[in-house]
Amino acid sequence: MKRRELPEDLKNAVCCLKCRKVGVDAVRKKIPGLSKKYDRCQICKSYAYRYSEIIRSPIIFVILTVMLIWVMPVSENGSRPIVVIGILISIMCGVYLNNARKRKKIRRLLEDHMRKNILDGEQS
Ligand SMILES: [Zn+2]
Repeated sequence: MKRRELPEDLKNAVCCLKCRKVGVDAVRKKIPGLSKKYDRCQICKSYAYRYSEIIRSPIIFVILTVMLIWVMPVSENGSRPIVVIGILISIMCGVYLNNARKRKKIRRLLEDHMRKNILDGEQS
């Protein structure tokens, strides 16, 4: 019961953590300059999420961090300031942990939704 696979359609459903609803009315918007899109809940106007779209792979974050350090401007003596690298790594860790937490919350929301649907189905 604990680690049940979520159905594909639920994974792609737009969830709003503020309204605590699955399949909310959302506007899909594009982030300017990026190929990424995001959803915004029509009711409370806050960000809405799709479970399948939350990056959870730590490897992606490691690659992103390395890339960011790579493109970082090099100081006059040819080295990259260690303090900035430290800050960058902590920011990326923060984003990763935040994502992981959000994913967990959405999973719980989806599981609640599934349980409720099963109960509704049994009652009728
Ligand atoms: Zn909402």
